[in-house]
Amino acid sequence: MRYLKLAELYRDSSATTKRLEKIEILSKFLISLSQKDRDVMYLLLGDIYPEYDERRIGISNQIAIKAISKATGIEIKEVNKKWKSIGDIGLVAENLTKNKKQITLATNILTIEKVLENLRKLPKLEGKGTVGKKLSLITELLTSATPLEALYLVRTLIGDLRIGIKESTIKHSLAKAFFKKDENAAIKIQEAIDKSNDIAAVFDIAKKKKIKDFEKIHLQVGKPIKAMLAQKVKTFEEGFKALGKPCAIEYKYDGFRMIIHKNNEDVTLFTRSLENVTKQFPEVVEYIKKYVKGKSFILDSEAVGFNKKTKKYTAFQDISQRIRRKYNIKDLQDKLPVEVNVFDILYYEGKSMLNETFKERTKIVKKIIKKHPYKIIYSKQIITGDEKKAREFYKQALKDNQEGIMMKNLDAIYQPGRRVGHMMKIKPEVKDLDLVIVGGEYGTGKRSGWISSYNLACVNKKGEYLEIGKMGTGMKEKADQGMTFEQLTEEVKPYIIKEKGKKVFIKPKIVISVTYQEIQKSPNYPSGFALRFPRFISLRPDRRAEEITTVEEIADDFDHQKRNWKYG
Ligand code: AMP
Repeated sequence: MRYLKLAELYRDSSATTKRLEKIEILSKFLISLSQKDRDVMYLLLGDIYPEYDERRIGISNQIAIKAISKATGIEIKEVNKKWKSIGDIGLVAENLTKNKKQITLATNILTIEKVLENLRKLPKLEGKGTVGKKLSLITELLTSATPLEALYLVRTLIGDLRIGIKESTIKHSLAKAFFKKDENAAIKIQEAIDKSNDIAAVFDIAKKKKIKDFEKIHLQVGKPIKAMLAQKVKTFEEGFKALGKPCAIEYKYDGFRMIIHKNNEDVTLFTRSLENVTKQFPEVVEYIKKYVKGKSFILDSEAVGFNKKTKKYTAFQDISQRIRRKYNIKDLQDKLPVEVNVFDILYYEGKSMLNETFKERTKIVKKIIKKHPYKIIYSKQIITGDEKKAREFYKQALKDNQEGIMMKNLDAIYQPGRRVGHMMKIKPEVKDLDLVIVGGEYGTGKRSGWISSYNLACVNKKGEYLEIGKMGTGMKEKADQGMTFEQLTEEVKPYIIKEKGKKVFIKPKIVISVTYQEIQKSPNYPSGFALRFPRFISLRPDRRAEEITTVEEIADDFDHQKRNWKYG
């Protein structure tokens, strides 16, 4: 299939902001695909492999600029100049390819297969000569590209497609294209996506129009799965109303979500954002082998840091550095040990547990885990319908240095990836939000060369990122004091999509926890709110941008804050 056909779809989809029109356009495109074009599904999301696969394209702006220069024969200096004036590398590629095309007409036709073949070679390249090899793979594609193809090729390379097609758009488009008569198709497709994390595998089934076959998508041990997410309630009354009485109440541990897979002797650990962290936590691998019975299983847990001497639990930010550590892992393990708190099971001895009730699932958890405090335990839990008992348990959780409690419906099944309302969290009114960095500004004087102010955004129901404030505090000057300006700048650099003077525009990727003094209404930000004195707490490498605090939650916090003032 010609890459041009896909590029035209990208163009048509970005030409409208209307969701339904996008779905209409995409569903027509999906009908026109044949089974062998299945991998196009990855490209629709700007990827080259399924979501659970860690291989990413990862091309920097600078390499893209070099490739444009090579493909068009225009000097790097000139391409850079153009970038500064247009502010979008994709458009630069389109523009310069147009000029070139007037002179040389002889080009090969670019196919999707060729694009995928070359892009898939990129993540494999390592060591000496990598840059040169990457450059020639990209240049080969760009020299055959039409201007429109060049635009989207470059945007794909730098990970900034901007066509407004998200997983949910694909879900609705698949439903419209292949299951017009089935009202529940979108729900079934979503479940299949959450279980497989492979949009092409879902397309395979949709194309055959066999809705029943979605049920055949099974969990696979060793392949990451999205964790079930919680909703927030403010009182036990609200929680019981949503979940029924009695329900299970558990400590809400303040660490990070760890999904543990075991298949015979192979143990694999994943974060909530599907990142493989097995190498980073060798002690957990050992605990699983030693203290959990069973040949194959998938456990859902929270890994929590604790102080080796005092045995007190520590806050998430202390262990956050372990998640992406690549070297000296043993040192960090000694300094920042974790305890695994298991609270659910998704798969056991060859069978999916997703459709079992929570009550049944917890029974198995308790049966197979041999508790070893400060190594592996199962979450502290009571079952009650009594608000007084629940409140006492909550107080105890806070006393034990935990974040709050989780309330869980005893009869609920496990639904990966959804905030389905089977699980509610209650935390004290701590003022922290998970937000994503979408822009910033380089500092001056002592801080020149570093981004010293960061634009933060929350998300709305449609998955759009809406700015809510600028953060300039919480980062430090020196490394021994915490996250430095320099380190945070390095974190966001690969995601810079545009620069204008001192201002930078950043792709929403880096999630951080932020505290603040107050939420105010504000017409200056698209979210309608502004944070007063936002302050950096920690990076959240375990979280995906789609999962950050929503604007509805912020509106709720704003109302609550108002009520608190009113009633003291
Ligand atoms: P939040 O991150 O505020 O949305 O709260 C949900 C998170 O709490 C989950 O993703 C888990 O990482 C964590 N958590 C801690 N303890 C538990 C528990 N007992 N059951 C479920 N989730 C828990």
